[in-house]
Amino acid sequence: MRRKLAAGNWKMNGLSAQLDQLDALTAAHPDPAVDLMICPPATLVGAAAAQVGNKPLMIGGQDCHPAASGAHTGDVSAEMLVDAGAKAVILGHSERREDHGESDELIRQKARAAHEAGLITVICVGESLEQREASNTLDIIGGQLAASIPDNSTGANLVVAYEPIWAIGTGKIPTLDQIGEVHDFIRARLERRFGAGVGRSTRLLYGGSVKPGNAAEIFAVSNVDGALVGGASLKAADFTGIIAAL
Ligand code: PGA
Repeated sequence: MRRKLAAGNWKMNGLSAQLDQLDALTAAHPDPAVDLMICPPATLVGAAAAQVGNKPLMIGGQDCHPAASGAHTGDVSAEMLVDAGAKAVILGHSERREDHGESDELIRQKARAAHEAGLITVICVGESLEQREASNTLDIIGGQLAASIPDNSTGANLVVAYEPIWAIGTGKIPTLDQIGEVHDFIRARLERRFGAGVGRSTRLLYGGSVKPGNAAEIFAVSNVDGALVGGASLKAADFTGIIAAL
């Protein structure tokens, strides 16, 4: 049985004052029936983890470098995230693939390092509108899965997020059939590559314009084990509405 997961991606949002939202979240969910994760910007990871302490809310990073340390100005390693108190890291988000030209190969190296450091990785895949309209969605997702997920993945350290690029921050979501088709496909690919044990225990999140108002119908789709939430994770009240639907 896969434990549901509600993961929030604050992206490049949040100054120290935003950490109040973590208190609101942990107060609203003292003993959640699902796993909760918030990934603040790197500047807040340490403070967020310290503030949350032992409460049931994982703090994660939004990226890491494949190397443990060294001459990589501006980068943060998986070990550094662990040292700051992070339990997880988002990798391969489409904004990083686009803004920083991240390749599947680089994402795989980052994820391998993150798993070695003991982090859960939330590896993002998703098609552009052009790719969807050309009926290439499953080919694109299949390629991203094969090349960006490392061999040292397990059902415990790997989470895959399906995020159609055209649904991120746009208020548009795929049809429930389209979400189900992609999630079933991802599950089948993971089972084929890693075997039924890992394939069936890996959690698959949907991401892209998830809101309290549409969460329940999305979570009812087969093989959707939770959500990766951007905008609606910034306010505890909105995120709580999504958690309640899980
Ligand atoms: P959104 O972002 O919920 O604001 O659409 C999702 C994401 O990019 O993870």
